[in-house]
Amino acid sequence: MHHVTVGHALLTNPATALARLVPVSRVRYNSPQQFSTMRAMLLDVPRRPLRAADVPRPEPGPGQVLIAVNACGVCRTDLHIFDAELANPKLPLVLGHEIVGTVVATGPGAGRFARGERVGVPWLGWSCGECRYCRTARENLCDRARFTGYQIDGGYAEYAAADARFAFRLPGEYADADAAPLLCAGLIGYRSLVAAGDAERLGLYGFGAAAHIVAQLARHQGRRVFAFTRAGDTDAQRFALELGAVWAGASDDRPPEPLDAAIIFAPVGSLVPMALRTVAKGGTVVCAGIHMSEIPAFPYDLLWGERVVRSVANLTRKDGEEFLALAPKAPVRTEIESYPLEHANEALGNLRAGRVRGAAVLKI
Ligand SMILES: [Zn+2]
Ligand SMILES: [Zn+2]
Repeated sequence: MHHVTVGHALLTNPATALARLVPVSRVRYNSPQQFSTMRAMLLDVPRRPLRAADVPRPEPGPGQVLIAVNACGVCRTDLHIFDAELANPKLPLVLGHEIVGTVVATGPGAGRFARGERVGVPWLGWSCGECRYCRTARENLCDRARFTGYQIDGGYAEYAAADARFAFRLPGEYADADAAPLLCAGLIGYRSLVAAGDAERLGLYGFGAAAHIVAQLARHQGRRVFAFTRAGDTDAQRFALELGAVWAGASDDRPPEPLDAAIIFAPVGSLVPMALRTVAKGGTVVCAGIHMSEIPAFPYDLLWGERVVRSVANLTRKDGEEFLALAPKAPVRTEIESYPLEHANEALGNLRAGRVRGAAVLKI
């Protein structure tokens, strides 16, 4: 039997995933405001516009930090959750898994960060540490993983609570809003680039937030980038060339020479056989998105010659440490379009329409 005694409070907060028994004396705040509310953009049900609401501010549970959100990136995965292409989100839900903010309170055992410190929170919010994948350095595939802005409330809000073990210190070179896209577009892009092996001629299909970061990393590593965009999207093609791509064209164009690998960021299954047509023998096609439309049937000839098709799922904390150390050295510069929190629906709409140059970021 639990006994609620003086000095403890039973915190039943609908804005957090779990109600927790937290000894109040062990939660450390900058200021004693722990029972106030915050502004958040809520997804009540899929496919209905996010609703601006005042909700209870989350409490940092054991091992968690409470973060005052300064910026949160808007990712294509947010659209997949919004559209119910990813099943069973927490509802109502605060989307957003590219969170940059300041620690304002720490729960018991979250001493990894101090109050006042800047942190970044990515998509992987928690993993079990016990399953076959976690025990073999593949926590990105954890059977019981929980994800920020999907099963855990994310960063389209003034505050977010996060497991301190899965948060990152961010390189000081980046302003808050500029750092936000590093936390998913950058991290997943980095993992995809590693999966592409030592490809010297690298194709990128879909030139959005992730590709604009990967292009800079790839160039820094001495690779040549070939950018593929929607037919007629000359703005995106020009953007790719500005960032160092040696060639840019439409997704059904043939590049001037065969490629060693291609990464597909666009959620379009028909790009898989198209990309296979452009890679040389031994080449790899990496599918980097969490959701893709159906892949059409294709002749075995396209795969023959030891070509490989693979996906990249989520991230490990090691990916994060490696990428965040590399980004300022390249240096990666992020191009962002910023929106106020209340304009999150507009940001999602522009992302869906392909109207965002670089990455969309909410400034909070
Ligand atoms: Zn696990
Ligand atoms: Zn993402």
